[in-house]
Amino acid sequence: MGKIKVVSFDVESTLLTPDFSQAVWYEGIPSLYAEKNGISFEEARAMVVKEYQEVGDQRREWYDIKYWFERFQLGDYQALLEGYKHRVSCYPEVMEVLSSLSKEYTLIVVSSSTREFLPYLLAEIEGHFARVFSSVSDYGQLKTPAFYLKVCQGMGILPCEMAHVGDSWQFDFLAPKEAGIEAFHLNRGGYAKNDKSLTSLADLEARLLGR
Ligand SMILES: [Mg+2]
Repeated sequence: MGKIKVVSFDVESTLLTPDFSQAVWYEGIPSLYAEKNGISFEEARAMVVKEYQEVGDQRREWYDIKYWFERFQLGDYQALLEGYKHRVSCYPEVMEVLSSLSKEYTLIVVSSSTREFLPYLLAEIEGHFARVFSSVSDYGQLKTPAFYLKVCQGMGILPCEMAHVGDSWQFDFLAPKEAGIEAFHLNRGGYAKNDKSLTSLADLEARLLGR
């Protein structure tokens, strides 16, 4: 096994709690939609959620706030993101894990969150990362095996020299694994099924050493 040089992190539900995005998608956008169409918040939320579901998380539009603001004709998304930035919150172990791992590895972010969201999400922790990749904004795709190979190329490393960790079985575990990357599945609040699954990022360092 090659030595891991780069450790890559998913963002939402991995480093950061989903609070900020939840607030934007399920409170902020429905509120604006209700106001614009003169309907109740509950009605607006039901309609908006139905439209999200029609698109679904397998299409890149799902992740694209510009697309949704245009679709719902809601004007400027910037003020909404600003208004919710106090809801951005890291999981408790993250700061310590990042400062410890950064002594040994180059750390990067590999996210399907868009460039509109990432400055808010990463505001407190950006300094730990050598590079931030947004699959949707930078490559117009979801986190596919082909995308992960482009990340490795971008970092000038072989897939076997990179580890990735994230909460999505499909996008953070199966896809990087298929690309030849050492993938770890984060199952917060669940249980670790095997030596490639974690219940907290605190276990990551030991797993990397124990490979
Ligand atoms: Mg995630």
